[in-house]
Amino acid sequence: MDSVINLIYLGASVLFILGIRGLTHPRTAVRGNLLGATGMLLAVVATLLDQQILGTGGQAFGLLLGGVVLGAAIGATLALRIEMTAMPEMVALLNAFGGGASALVAGAVLVGATDPPAQTTVATVASGLIGSVTFWGSLVAFDKLRGLLLPDQPVLFPGQQMLNGVLGLAALGCGVMVVAGAGLGDLGPVGYYAALVAIASILGILLTIPIGGADMPVAIALLNSYSGLAAASTGFVLSNNILIITGSLVGASGLILTRIMCKAMNRSLVNVLVGAIAEGGGSKSDADAVYAGRVKSTSAEEVAMLFDGARRAVIVPGYGLAVSQAQHQVRDLANLLESRGVEVEYAIHPVAGRMPGHMNVLLAEADVDYDKLKEMDAINPSFEQTDVSLVIGANDIVNPDARTDPGSPIAGMPILNVDQSRTVVVIKRSLSPGFAGIPNPLFAADNTLMFFGDGKKAVLDLIAAVKDTD
Ligand code: NDP
Repeated sequence: MDSVINLIYLGASVLFILGIRGLTHPRTAVRGNLLGATGMLLAVVATLLDQQILGTGGQAFGLLLGGVVLGAAIGATLALRIEMTAMPEMVALLNAFGGGASALVAGAVLVGATDPPAQTTVATVASGLIGSVTFWGSLVAFDKLRGLLLPDQPVLFPGQQMLNGVLGLAALGCGVMVVAGAGLGDLGPVGYYAALVAIASILGILLTIPIGGADMPVAIALLNSYSGLAAASTGFVLSNNILIITGSLVGASGLILTRIMCKAMNRSLVNVLVGAIAEGGGSKSDADAVYAGRVKSTSAEEVAMLFDGARRAVIVPGYGLAVSQAQHQVRDLANLLESRGVEVEYAIHPVAGRMPGHMNVLLAEADVDYDKLKEMDAINPSFEQTDVSLVIGANDIVNPDARTDPGSPIAGMPILNVDQSRTVVVIKRSLSPGFAGIPNPLFAADNTLMFFGDGKKAVLDLIAAVKDTD
C-alpha cells in the first residue's frame, strides 16, 4: 500500500510542477491552476488512504474527513467572496494557516513520540520556529493591510534589532534542548518546544511590525516562502514525501517572487525587512510646489479629438483601474479606437496595482488579447512614437521623479516612460498621491492633460465622446 501511496504522491508532485509551469503565462494559467488543484486532490485522497490514518479507526477518519469538508467549504466561500484588491490580505491569512498548521502538527508528533531520532527533532524545531514566525508575522501583515489594530506605518523602537537577536538566540537555545532530548532541565522536550513556539511567536510579530504597508506585499511573498519551508520541515517530521516536495516548491517560488518584487520596486530585501524606507525618508516634495498653476484639466470631448488624430495609443492601467473595475469599459474603448484605425497597446508595469500580475488578471477577465499586453522593458522604447498615452488610475509607476530625483522614496524604481509620448492623458479622481504618498510631476507636465473622475465613468464618457466624433 505504501508504494501505491508514494506513486500517487509522485503523480501529484508532477501535477504541481506542471501547474506552476502553466501559471507562468496567462494563456495557460487556468489549466495550470486546475492541474495543481487535481494534484492536491490526489494528495489528500492518498493521505486519507494511508494505513496510519485508516488504521486509527473510524472515529479519527471521520474527524479528518469532517475537517476536510469544513475547510473546503470555508476555502470555497472565501475564494468566491474575496475582492481582487483584497487578495494580498487573503494570501497573508493562508500563509498564517500554513505556518500555524505546520508548527502544531510537528508539536503533536513530538508529544506522541518516545525517544524520537535526531532527524525528527531537528525537523520539529525548524517547523516550530519557522511556522510560528510565519503564523504571527502573517497575522500582523493581514492586520496592517486591513488597517485593523496596527498602524500602516513601520513601528520602530530603540533596540529593536538587538531584541530580535536575543529572541532569535533564545529560540535556538530552546531548539537545542528539544534535540538534546529529555533529562536536560525540568521542562523536557515538549516544554522546550512550547517555549520555542512562544518565543518564535513574539519574534514573528516583532519582525513584521517594522515593515510599512507599502512593503507588505514583498513581506507576504517572503512569508509565503517561510510557510513552504515550515511545511517541508513538517514533511520530514512525518516522513511524508508530498509535504516535503510541495513545501520546497512553495519555499522556492516564494523566494523567487520576493526577489522579482524587490527588483521591480528597486529595494533590497534587507531594506524592506528593517523598514528602512521610513527611517531614511525621502524628499517628499511639497504637492503645492509641484502642481500650483501648472495642472491642465481636460474633458471627454477634448480627449476624443486627440484620439481622432492619433495613429498609436498606449493604455497604462494602475491600481485605480482595479478600484473602479473599469477593465471591461477599457477593452470596449480600445476596440472602438482600433476600429477607427488607431493602434492600441497596453503597458504593464511589474508592480502596478497591489499584487504581482494584478493588471494581467484584470485585463484577462475582460478578455483583452494577451498579445496586446506589453511588459515595461518591451514598451518603454515605443513611447516616443506614441501619440496618446492614456493613464488610468496609475500614479507611482509613471512618476518621473523615480528617474530624476535621487532623494525620492521611489528613486531608482523603473517606471513606464509615458512622459515621452506626444500627449499624456491621466484619468484619476483628484491630485491625491498613490501608494508611495508623493506628488507626481507628470501631472503638471506641459504635455499632460488631467481627466478628473472615477475610472469607469471617465472611460464610459470617453467611449460616448469618441462615438460622437463621427
Ligand atoms: P498608485 O497606488 O501609485 O496610484 C493609484 C491611483 O489610482 C491613485 O493616485 C488614485 O488617485 C487613483 N484611483 C484610486 N481609485 C480610483 C478610481 N476609482 N478611479 C480612478 N482613479 C482612482 O498605483 P500604481 O498602480 O501606479 O502603482 C502601484 C504602487 O503600489 C507602487 O507604488 C508599487 O510599488 C506599490 N505596490 C505594488 C505591489 C504589487 O505587487 N503590484 C505590491 C506592493 C506595493 P485618486 O485618489 O486621485 O483617484
